[in-house]
Amino acid sequence: MLVTVLRTTLLVLAFLTAILPMRNASASDRPSVVTAIEVVGKGDAFEIDLVVDGQAEPKLILLRNPYRVALDFDGTLAAAKLPAIDKTSLVTDIRHGLVGADRYRLIMTLSQPVRPKLDVTKGETGVRVSLRLAPGDDKTFTLPSLPKASASPAAEHRSNRPFVIVLDPGHGGIDRGATGEKGTEEKAVNLAFGLALRSALEALPDIKVVMTRDDDTFIPLNERAAIARRAGANLMVSLHADSIRYKDLRGATVYTLSEKASDSLSRELADTENSADRFAGSEWDQDAPEIHDILVDLVRRETEALSEHFAIQLVADLGKGEIRLINNPRRSAGFRVLRAPDVPSILLEMGYLSNPEDEQALQSEDWQKRLAAILARSIAEFAKRPTLGSQR
Ligand SMILES: [Zn+2]
Repeated sequence: MLVTVLRTTLLVLAFLTAILPMRNASASDRPSVVTAIEVVGKGDAFEIDLVVDGQAEPKLILLRNPYRVALDFDGTLAAAKLPAIDKTSLVTDIRHGLVGADRYRLIMTLSQPVRPKLDVTKGETGVRVSLRLAPGDDKTFTLPSLPKASASPAAEHRSNRPFVIVLDPGHGGIDRGATGEKGTEEKAVNLAFGLALRSALEALPDIKVVMTRDDDTFIPLNERAAIARRAGANLMVSLHADSIRYKDLRGATVYTLSEKASDSLSRELADTENSADRFAGSEWDQDAPEIHDILVDLVRRETEALSEHFAIQLVADLGKGEIRLINNPRRSAGFRVLRAPDVPSILLEMGYLSNPEDEQALQSEDWQKRLAAILARSIAEFAKRPTLGSQR
């Protein structure tokens, strides 16, 4: 039964992810059609023109890593071939296609940052879209505001109070997590602290707390991220107290998601954490499908920036609050639980059960309350900053 519910949930999430870029697609009766694409300029004066039968209001999107520029056309289909690209030009690769039912997208990979200029000239039956690119620097290559269509359920929620925080006590049920020398179980420490933090947060105005678990239940990693997305979370904090190889290492660490781990210790830890799903049965033993959609990319980058922002602030607050931190307390690794593309997320290792002093602190109610108070203040501070919604 539980598995069926969880599987349905995952399917719903996959479906939501799939329709995300199509939301708010133009409801025009007849789609426009791109009938021709030509490259006009060359080298440093690159220009690409699109002839569109019907109306078009293309959106310009700039991306980094690598530098790319994209044009997005709502309510538009394509019946044109891509022109060949001169390899010496600013544009090194060009691709196009439909994303969603009737959204056309043209993406160009760049050899360097550019200054783009987009013109739309109206004709009798259609429009001509000209995109000129000149060499620019990194500063001119700024991220434009998010196109409206990329609004995620979470992003939409951001314009309305209250601020939704998802607390995710790690492990649970069959998955005990780490065990301390005195037999302390990580799953119990995480839950006890999660509940203490919930109490601290519920005392604050305009904050809604959602728990991924509030009892000793096993929840797969993807499902934890899915809970955060469904809740329209503004922030997710995953709580852990793992073991590490070095018994004398102690103190808190704040982790954000990164493809490449910041260091080998973080990578090991993420591997251990990610293996939690071995308890879940084979249907969970896989990553959510990678999402290569460019708009999801954009949301994801904004999410990463917000996660970073919170991580920096939290480390500073923990330091000020005299919570012991490990060396380089801000680290990153590929934690699966942090992978919701539209929910800023961090994983807090409150301390390490492999260290006897940490084990003692983690079990102390006073210590838990002190940490909860600091974290609650940090979260409240983060909740006050301008939201994604209002930046748009
Ligand atoms: Zn853990």
